Amino acid sequence: MGNTAVVVGGGIGGLAAAIGLRRIGWDVTVLERASALADMGAGISLAANGLRALDELGVGGAVRAASRGQYSGGTRTPWGAWLARMDGSALEKAVGAPIMGIRRSTLHRLLREALPAGSLLMGSEAATVEEAGAGTVHVGYGASALEADLVVAADGIGSTIRGHLFPDHPGPVHSGSTVLRAITEHAVDLRTDFELTWGRGAEFGHIAFLDGKAEWHAVLGLPVGTRFADPLTELRRRFHTWHDPIPALLDATRPEAVLQHDVNELRTPLPSYAAGRIVLLGDAAHAMTPNLGQGACQALEDAVTLAAALGAESTVEAALARYDAERRPRSQAVARAARQAGRMGQQLSHPLAVALRDTAMRLTPSRVATRMILRHHAWSPPSLH
Ligand code: FAD
Repeated sequence: MGNTAVVVGGGIGGLAAAIGLRRIGWDVTVLERASALADMGAGISLAANGLRALDELGVGGAVRAASRGQYSGGTRTPWGAWLARMDGSALEKAVGAPIMGIRRSTLHRLLREALPAGSLLMGSEAATVEEAGAGTVHVGYGASALEADLVVAADGIGSTIRGHLFPDHPGPVHSGSTVLRAITEHAVDLRTDFELTWGRGAEFGHIAFLDGKAEWHAVLGLPVGTRFADPLTELRRRFHTWHDPIPALLDATRPEAVLQHDVNELRTPLPSYAAGRIVLLGDAAHAMTPNLGQGACQALEDAVTLAAALGAESTVEAALARYDAERRPRSQAVARAARQAGRMGQQLSHPLAVALRDTAMRLTPSRVATRMILRHHAWSPPSLH
């Protein structure tokens, strides 16, 4: 089998895939259509499965050093009562790491730095991806083109390559929610590392970073395309009665720092993650709602599994069949669980349903809650050595 690949998309999934392929000796070019990195004013939490994938890619140490372990916190009601406590130490004991919080810009930089200069082509939009026969794929971008033995479509939830491979697939749909988020301008006096607060049809959460600043997010049940002219004022209006540190987090934020996005997902599962010598990875394959904080972690699992399959099998086709068999059931199950978590969490708005949910959560022993989380976090990467 040849050993050249083009990765379309320089997000977390695409960069991780490129690092993995290089680790098994492939020659990789990443095409990224953006000329500057977008959406970097946000944070991300990485669970043990994502961290283990990063370890296998050789960047786990650097990512852990730049992250803050989310040891304390949990889920609360708007008036501050605890519904469930999170025990980061128990997670660490069970799966080797607590959830870690890191700025997206830092994670992205650490991934980029693991690739040789010149292998990531910014401002390069893949316009055509076609099997060219004789075991190669042709990728056209701008006035240039590349031929490769494999194309990794890591082009995100709106993947045009997925649309090309599966023209009958309905594509992404709106989850019914809008997310607003920002990183605070300065450190905030937080008593916990991580919190999630559920009200009626609304959620507010934070992740603390190493430097004491934090990312907060607010999720609201709103029609697709909803944008507030002055989002910070709107959030202060909606959340001013919620418990500390929610008002303090909003007060520590510059208005222009607030990002607003619809929350979309790939609700109809794909029948395959591979076709010929083209393979889907990350959000292009299984974009999920963010309710479990697993989208990027699953993309990282994809990246390591793909590289390991290509390292182990004698043909690209056999490797992609193996990747599809190993990744599709797990990632689609996590996507289903994330959707379900959203339905039971932020999206629940009927007062009776909210009261029942809150009572059930209070009565659930923490070891049962930890076991449910572990189902997703307990994953061991295949070896790339
Ligand atoms: P993307 O990040 O979308 O990257 C795709 C890239 O492809 C983009 O850079 C795009 O510009 C590029 N591209 C597209 N088309 C082309 C083309 N034709 N040519 C070249 N380039 C192209 N996950 C977690 O694990 N933990 C969390 O805490 C977490 N929190 C989240 C919070 C929110 C509010 C949201 C929305 C998601 C969250 N996720 C989280 C999910 C996570 O962000 C995504 O799953 C992950 O970033 C997907 O990475 P990706 O590389 O597959 O796609």
